[in-house]
Amino acid sequence: MARYIASDCKLCRKTDYKLFLKGSRCYSDKCALEKRKTIPGQHGASKGKKKTSEYGLRLKEKQRLRFTYGLLEKQFSNYFDKAAKAKGVKGENLLLLLERRLDNIVFKLGFAVSRIEARQLVTHGHFLVNKKKVSFPSYSMKVGDVVEVKEKSKENIRIKDGLELLGKRGEAPWLELNKEQLSGIVKYFPARDEMGIQIQEKLVVEFYSR
Ligand code: SF4
Repeated sequence: MARYIASDCKLCRKTDYKLFLKGSRCYSDKCALEKRKTIPGQHGASKGKKKTSEYGLRLKEKQRLRFTYGLLEKQFSNYFDKAAKAKGVKGENLLLLLERRLDNIVFKLGFAVSRIEARQLVTHGHFLVNKKKVSFPSYSMKVGDVVEVKEKSKENIRIKDGLELLGKRGEAPWLELNKEQLSGIVKYFPARDEMGIQIQEKLVVEFYSR
């Protein structure tokens, strides 16, 4: 399965956006973006001062969103096509499709410290959805679906680390976590302001509509 593997703080500096790719480091004063705001590379400092074109702004916003969910360009544009064909506002449709991914929900429930780690844990078969093993991260969750940590994975240190970090991140209101059972349910689909994504999705739509 193809996947986006770059997990470097350079991506955050390049897009000037906190992508939260490195777990607890992202929530500490060790975050590279907080410490150093210039674009990486020899000419990074001077590049940061240039005026960005309209196209550049849209591209950057699209990259921010794509990198946040760790997707390849093709995977991301497929999501956009699907969002554009659905009823409603394209940008919000796109965000909801991304939020419904199993790896995102595993991350938001606190079973992983980052989406990248959530993806690995899902791929390695640590979770059940509605009592059945699901090991593909793009699995699209529905309202009422229950994800749970497999019995033999309940002592997994990476899952425990994720739950510890959840205290700093805060729980998503549209998901309900059962910390004792290590399970979670999708109560409802989130409204735009409940997604916790600081992206101007309108620019992403404009990028693909050019
Ligand atoms: Fe980005 Fe900061 Fe996390 Fe690095 S530590 S991935 S710069 S948010």
